[in-house]
Amino acid sequence: MKSRYDVVVIGGGLLGGSLALGLARDDVDVLLLERDQINQHASGRNAGSLHFQLEYRMIERGIEAARRAAEAIPLHLEAARLWQELSASIGPSLGVSQHGGLMLATAVEDVRRLEAKAELEQSWGLDVKVLDSAQAHDLAPYLSDSVLAASFCPTEGKANARTSAPALCRAAVQAGATVLSRAGVTSIERHGSRWRVVAEHEGDAVVVETDAVVLAAGVWCSELAEMMGSYVPVEPVALTMSVTARTAPLTPYLIQHAGARLSLKQSVEGNVLIGGGWPAQVTTLPNGSIDLRGRGQLLADSVAGNAAAAMNAVPAVADLPVLRTWVGTTTLAPDQLPVVGPLPGAPGGFVATGGSAFTLGPVFAELLGELVQGRAPRLDLRSYAADRFSGTAGTTERAAQHA
Ligand SMILES: Cc1cc2nc3c(=O)[nH]c(=O)nc-3n(C[C@H](O)[C@H](O)[C@H](O)COP(=O)(O)OP(=O)(O)OC[C@H]3O[C@@H](n4cnc5c(N)ncnc54)[C@H](O)[C@@H]3O)c2cc1C
Repeated sequence: MKSRYDVVVIGGGLLGGSLALGLARDDVDVLLLERDQINQHASGRNAGSLHFQLEYRMIERGIEAARRAAEAIPLHLEAARLWQELSASIGPSLGVSQHGGLMLATAVEDVRRLEAKAELEQSWGLDVKVLDSAQAHDLAPYLSDSVLAASFCPTEGKANARTSAPALCRAAVQAGATVLSRAGVTSIERHGSRWRVVAEHEGDAVVVETDAVVLAAGVWCSELAEMMGSYVPVEPVALTMSVTARTAPLTPYLIQHAGARLSLKQSVEGNVLIGGGWPAQVTTLPNGSIDLRGRGQLLADSVAGNAAAAMNAVPAVADLPVLRTWVGTTTLAPDQLPVVGPLPGAPGGFVATGGSAFTLGPVFAELLGELVQGRAPRLDLRSYAADRFSGTAGTTERAAQHA
């Protein structure tokens, strides 16, 4: 173990793994530190949807919110390309398939919402078209009769959330990165022109100096930013997932809904994965603060609501036994947009988190990789800068107010 690296990445999820791989392929000397096992948190517990259409949470609050969310479509287009590229270079262990995604409308107002959404998306260059009921049923005969229309985006799909981040970390090591799991970062301090990062690994302190620190730490990004005297106000959000027993091939598409929280897809093995943003309960510590390491608790209404949304979209799902339901915790920024870029007030510090960071993880990683190496990122990240939340954000004072 060396005492100096060009870059230290904190977090061994999809984002940290993609970033370590990209940097190592660019011959940057990179160390990835992960407190637990690789892929133990959001990246390993999510739905694995690669969704490039605006999600329900982005269109439910009206056209203005949708317009703002649509500004991120250049990130979505790049993500569609990068997942294909990663799949070609790493192989089936990512479990990527991009056969397309359908977003359903079962009420007249959903149809209007779909049309407005598709128009917005097309104006940003996303390949999406609205199908009427007959066209939707021709493409997917198993859809409920209540489907009045559906928007179809041919590049959408899925990746395997259980295997993607580990596969990326393995590829990063093959490309020259050092990956250390069971290494929890306990302090990050400025030391001259560098950062000194201290982690606890199997009872020993690991101390490394580095030019750049990248926070890819999911719900812990706020806490780690505070260690660096900076401020990243993302909130933890606990969500519900379910998976059914295996069944015969049912659908090759990612299925979402324009008027309900739903994501539905079938794994290569035949299981149907059901999610879409139904809330669960974060666990709390005795002092009332959120226990970020807690597993979260299922809410019966969410499990039932999610199942009903799935059965309403694809009635055949009603016959499938549910094998498992679980909770995963992810981050959302107050404006629901990603947070990607330099850490305010912390030179050489960078962060990426927020929203659909599984779909967008490889893009965040690519853009951060360029920033870390002092190059201008190929897409404009200014709208996603961490300092957008307040005029004083990025100072230790602001971090203290937030604490
Ligand atoms: C139920 C659910 C469903 C979702 N579905 C989708 C979906 O279908 N599509 C989509 O795009 N997104 C989805 N998301 C969001 C997505 O999962 C996350 O945005 C993404 O996985 C975040 O990846 P990450 O690598 O940034 O964070 P994580 O996977 O959470 O990884 C962060 C890592 O940092 C480590 N860490 C934290 N603190 C320290 C420390 N001090 N020292 C060392 N390591 C540390 C943690 O142990 C953790 O492993 C979903 C989320 C949930 C919860």
